[in-house]
Amino acid sequence: MDLDIRTIIVMFAILSLMFAGLLELAGLQAGNIRGIRLWAIANSCFGLGLGLAYFYTVPTPDANWALVTGSTLVAIGVALQYSGIHAFKEQRSDWRLPLLLVIAVCAMNTLFVFIHPDVSARAIANALLLAVGYAACARALLIKIEPPLRTAYWFTGLSFAVLALVLLARATAIWLAPSGMYSGLYTQISPNPLSFFVGGIVQLFVTFGFVLMLDYRLVTEMRRLASRDALTGAYNRRRLEEEAVLQWAQHLRTGEILTVMLIDIDHFKAINDLYGHQTGDEVLRRLVAIAQASIRANDYFARYGGEEFCILLPATTEQAALVLAERLRGAYEDAVMTFGGKTLKSTISIGVADSTGVGPEFSALIAAADRALYRAKQTGRNRVALHSGSQ
Ligand code: GH3
Ligand code: MG
Ligand code: MG
Repeated sequence: MDLDIRTIIVMFAILSLMFAGLLELAGLQAGNIRGIRLWAIANSCFGLGLGLAYFYTVPTPDANWALVTGSTLVAIGVALQYSGIHAFKEQRSDWRLPLLLVIAVCAMNTLFVFIHPDVSARAIANALLLAVGYAACARALLIKIEPPLRTAYWFTGLSFAVLALVLLARATAIWLAPSGMYSGLYTQISPNPLSFFVGGIVQLFVTFGFVLMLDYRLVTEMRRLASRDALTGAYNRRRLEEEAVLQWAQHLRTGEILTVMLIDIDHFKAINDLYGHQTGDEVLRRLVAIAQASIRANDYFARYGGEEFCILLPATTEQAALVLAERLRGAYEDAVMTFGGKTLKSTISIGVADSTGVGPEFSALIAAADRALYRAKQTGRNRVALHSGSQ
């Protein structure tokens, strides 16, 4: 395969500028995700850096400056990608490493172009320094991976690692080449064109990887929003019903008893009327916090509607759920809530039903728990009632 370096450079310069535009547009849509802007600017730097290299033909003073500026722009691009990864992960970025990389690349190129002209030393220094930058990017991606983004992080991190290896191989090949063989950027002798070609392609993989990270992050965020209640952060009814279907299937497989608990705040309308709607909202949030601290890891807590909440308890009998319900009722009753200097006491009533009485279907369990809840309200509130009638 004949690989013409000038063609490769112009192709990757154009692709980098295209990606810069793409990421800029993606950033407009996903403004709350950090790091996109930095990656967009990084791609512009790659595009401009490669563009400048394209215009380099013979070593004239002007062309030499193009070479130094082009290399420095590529180093700035790598530094911005590194900072962009930390921003994306919402971590504090250490700015010293990227700054050091840019200064070192600029200094090395100035040294080996103007002060002590040496094309091989320049190429080796560039390849080694950029390899360090890419390895740092790989490390930043491959440690402390958030589970929903694992695949995207691995893809991008490994691409960075491959890029670092390609550059190491390039540095080694130029170092081992017979003297005078490597005569500069456009040396058409292997592995110079091949390392440009492979390096350019892996750099595209890296950008694809970042776009994949964005996609994963947006989908995760959308799923979270679609499954949560905006006011309290608890799961919403839609998500609860999906979970109930899963637990029903689990019940059919294992025969384990499934229990539903319905919780309703007593005289909540009066709280709204007396203290205002905002205080009512805060009371709902407090109940959610207390409930989430009381339940077990397998229990599924959700806002069912208004001031009613529901807990799905897999592998739990009505009697076992009663213990949890009593604990929750007591914890809520004991909680002292103060709003604007005023102390507010509130209570809840709870209805419990399990699948031994009414079957595992969610609507039947809810209806049974609702009947028990009605009894708890009728018999004085601030109490737990079981569908079986034993309490
Ligand atoms: P009971 O003891 O019989 O349960 O009486 P209650 O007043 O709690 O019951 P009711 O169903 O009459 O009132 C529920 C109130 O909950 C009415 C509604 O305005 C209020 N509510 C529903 N959703 C919200 C919300 O998101 N925020 C606030 N602040 N109030 C809400
Ligand atoms: Mg109600
Ligand atoms: Mg109520």
